[in-house]
Amino acid sequence: MRVKLFLISALFCINAQSFAATVLDWRWLQIADQLPQLNIDLNERTKFRLFSLNNPQRVVIDLLNTQSDLNPVAPQNTLLIKEVRLGDHHNHLRIVLDMIRPATPQAFWITTPQNNPRLVITFNNAQPIIDSKPIDLPKKISEPPVSKFIPKGREIVIAIDAGHGGMDSGTIGNSKTYEKHIALAIALELKTIIQQNKGLKAIMTREKDEFLRLRERLDRARKAQADVFISIHADANRDSNQVHGASVYMLSPKGASSEAAKWLAEKENAADLIGGVTLSDKDEVLASILLDLSQTGTLELSSKLAQNVLSSLGKVSHLIHQDIQQAAFLVLKSPDVPSILIETGFLSNRNDEKNLNSPHYRRQLAIAIFNGIQNYLSQNVP
Ligand code: ZN
Repeated sequence: MRVKLFLISALFCINAQSFAATVLDWRWLQIADQLPQLNIDLNERTKFRLFSLNNPQRVVIDLLNTQSDLNPVAPQNTLLIKEVRLGDHHNHLRIVLDMIRPATPQAFWITTPQNNPRLVITFNNAQPIIDSKPIDLPKKISEPPVSKFIPKGREIVIAIDAGHGGMDSGTIGNSKTYEKHIALAIALELKTIIQQNKGLKAIMTREKDEFLRLRERLDRARKAQADVFISIHADANRDSNQVHGASVYMLSPKGASSEAAKWLAEKENAADLIGGVTLSDKDEVLASILLDLSQTGTLELSSKLAQNVLSSLGKVSHLIHQDIQQAAFLVLKSPDVPSILIETGFLSNRNDEKNLNSPHYRRQLAIAIFNGIQNYLSQNVP
């Protein structure tokens, strides 16, 4: 009798091992401005469980009696899901989504064009991106003043300029990290964050690995009527690999005045608007005064923008300079757009290079830059 029972239970176990359903395909769907959606195609409809767990935030999908030979990956650049893990759980296929921030999952069945059942997982009510807690930052980022800053009327345009590109690699790190790639990766991260905030619009001077003349960067930002201009770079020090940390630059008054001369010289060629005033029809003296006024105001705003971004960056990164740096960088020379340049770290320093190669660290930097911009905008609504 005992033997029989054992046999029966053994048989039951073997039966239970044969799975009812198989995963045919996993796919993340990214619809613009929406949270990502996970599509799981199966050969058979199966029972499932869907629930959330806290500390750390996870969403769990159990597909009963299901197997999969395919490994799902996390969606790209969504700031929602960090990682996707697969496991067995009493013959069930367990899918664990490690969340960057909490969101409410929902699941429903549809049928694919090939007539297979598809389980669709969607997310709602995601916590705002700027809450630092679920992002698991090593140093705390202060709460951005969301309530203070509600843009009215037109969208606020933030121009993001990824330094270098194409044949201009920028500086190159010890482990062959190219500045142009790091700059673009942080810029894209920043764009993603900005786009998820209502009333803000991000425009990029370059979105791929292309060479751009410096003037072209300015022109693209000005054409898009940018309210602020953020140029992103990485540094290098030829003499010492010990030098590390981030810094923030604005245009020096000297650079501004030499630029003013150039603008005046060129005023016949282009009917450029400075703060809504055309220079080309003004006489030299008046044009010079108008340009001066516009530039002084812009330098003041650039300094405020730089200060906000600097103190926000200081919460996630070592700062090589505690003060705003001033230089005659050409990309900062728009006379009517507050502009800053961020050196995000030193590729000549082993640790900085390692950090800048980490998507997690780059995201922290992007969030810090965003918080700084937002603080600035809350005090200086364009
Ligand atoms: Zn650079």
